[in-house]
Amino acid sequence: MEHCEVASINLARLLREGGTARATGVVREAFFVGEERFPLEGEATWKVVVSAVGGDEYWLSGEVEGVVLMECRRCLKPTPTPIHAHFQHLLRYQQGLEEVVFHEEKEEEYYAFGEPDLDLLPFLTEAFVTEMPYTVLCQEGCKGLCPVCGADRNLVDCGHEPEVHHPLLGLKDLLPEL
Ligand SMILES: [Zn+2]
Ligand SMILES: [Zn+2]
Repeated sequence: MEHCEVASINLARLLREGGTARATGVVREAFFVGEERFPLEGEATWKVVVSAVGGDEYWLSGEVEGVVLMECRRCLKPTPTPIHAHFQHLLRYQQGLEEVVFHEEKEEEYYAFGEPDLDLLPFLTEAFVTEMPYTVLCQEGCKGLCPVCGADRNLVDCGHEPEVHHPLLGLKDLLPEL
């Protein structure tokens, strides 16, 4: 089993002899999707198995696990959020192909690759980011930021009244006093 600093797996032996190849490694600091950065607390660890399944086809399966820092949806505090994602993809070897290309044909999806060194980072990133929740709270009952002064109401009592939205509150003023 190879332990890599870069997230890739060398499939040269697998392409020659068939069988199974395994690799493990870590991703440091962050995952990136375009300009968007998903910062990690510590390292994310991953492991991957690639098995020859006949012809030019290979089955990639793996998992990635780490703690991503997501902004609390109320107070924006970076909130450690554990993620554990699994993924499986069909790979197809096409000699000479320089990049990994996704194909979707009828009911079948596969990734074509042509280099024995397969970059795993796109697979790890997709699996990890897909597994992230849409929003998180830093704690149950997070009081959020004050809409008037921006203070973190978990830390300070700035004295501003929290906004109250109640459909009947406005109505009360319209009714004659009894
Ligand atoms: Zn919060
Ligand atoms: Zn305030």
